[in-house]
Amino acid sequence: MDRWQELEQRLFMRTFKRLPVTLVRGKGALVWDNEGKEYLDFVGGWAVNSLGHCHPVVTRAVKHQVGTLIQASSQFYTIPQVQLAELLVQKSCLDRVFFCNSGAEANEGAIKLARRYGKLYLKGAYKIITTYNSFHGRTLATVAATGQRKFQEPYIPLPNGFINADYNDIKAIKGATTAEVCAVMLEPVQGEGGVNIADTDYLPEVRAWCDEKGILLILDEIQTGVGRTGTLFAYEQFGIEPDIMTLAKGLGSGVPIGALLAKERVSVFSFGEHGSTFGGNPLACAAAFATLKFIIDNNIPDKVKRLEQYFMSQLTKLKQQFDFITDIRGRGLLIAVEFSDNIAEEITLACLKKGLLVNQVKPNALRFMPPLIITEREVDRALNILSEVLKEQKKEKL
Ligand SMILES: *Cc1c(COP(=O)(O)O)cnc(C)c1O
Repeated sequence: MDRWQELEQRLFMRTFKRLPVTLVRGKGALVWDNEGKEYLDFVGGWAVNSLGHCHPVVTRAVKHQVGTLIQASSQFYTIPQVQLAELLVQKSCLDRVFFCNSGAEANEGAIKLARRYGKLYLKGAYKIITTYNSFHGRTLATVAATGQRKFQEPYIPLPNGFINADYNDIKAIKGATTAEVCAVMLEPVQGEGGVNIADTDYLPEVRAWCDEKGILLILDEIQTGVGRTGTLFAYEQFGIEPDIMTLAKGLGSGVPIGALLAKERVSVFSFGEHGSTFGGNPLACAAAFATLKFIIDNNIPDKVKRLEQYFMSQLTKLKQQFDFITDIRGRGLLIAVEFSDNIAEEITLACLKKGLLVNQVKPNALRFMPPLIITEREVDRALNILSEVLKEQKKEKL
């Protein structure tokens, strides 16, 4: 343990079980620790570093903005946030935005907006249907929305107004819908829940049901948005449009920002009903504008789609080689490998030793969320390391 790690253990609340590595620098899909060791980064700051580490386009935009105007408050007009809003509205099916600082905060905004809509147009309906294995954040309301007991148990009683239904089960949503329900909130791919992908018909069925009942469809695209799944937004792949969408992780390529977007008729906040001190500050918005513009101008989503095919075909070969790989699944560069046993932690540590960063999403599953700008050669390099680790694992078992 180095001195930073020792200090951390003494100073920090014990919320994060960190891996034994202190990172100091990054470039593209590579990072280095404080001893100069190089790692290939397939964690990507948890699907945040969409353009990799310190992409020149982002660094330049931040450097410029940091010497121009960092914060002014929402009492005034500022330019970077309007530029970002214009691009988001142009490239999505939504009409209005609200900027904040994180995913949870974007979802809080979405929940408040849906409740506001319910009060105005649905006779006070305020409940929101969310799904099991979902993840919507760590604030009290978003923990209540998250359909996983382990995040909720320590904080019960939680704010009420959330009903859980099974994912990929339209009947469960129909069964949970009462006159008190104002919205359904879903991830197109459940990220933290283990990379569970919506079935082809599921989202269109949910959309049709919401239309029939006059309730709102909120898509939490905090992890799937901004090119991650091979289209700019994941909803595009399902042929539907949400009424409300939230973004965060990949939007600023590492600079914290969240966004709440909604259709015109659903944008029912009036002055003073919602707000944020830091939300929409010029620094974060300049980083996000540079990121989003680069992703659009360089057709990154198409590249992600091709990389998905390559990644999955190479993983298929691994699966044929190792019978304890029970499943591989993913959309774009959000990919999971599942094992028959709870070996994800050992494998994560062994990969770390060999210079590959991966994420343990479940005791028996790894998740890959590399920068969207990785190359096939970097995929090869990562999977070679993984393959070596799996070979050792196999030997141990025999
Ligand atoms: C990460 C995540 C969140 C929470 O975002 P924070 O920035 O950590 O608050 C919410 N929803 C989804 C789908 C996420 O992946």
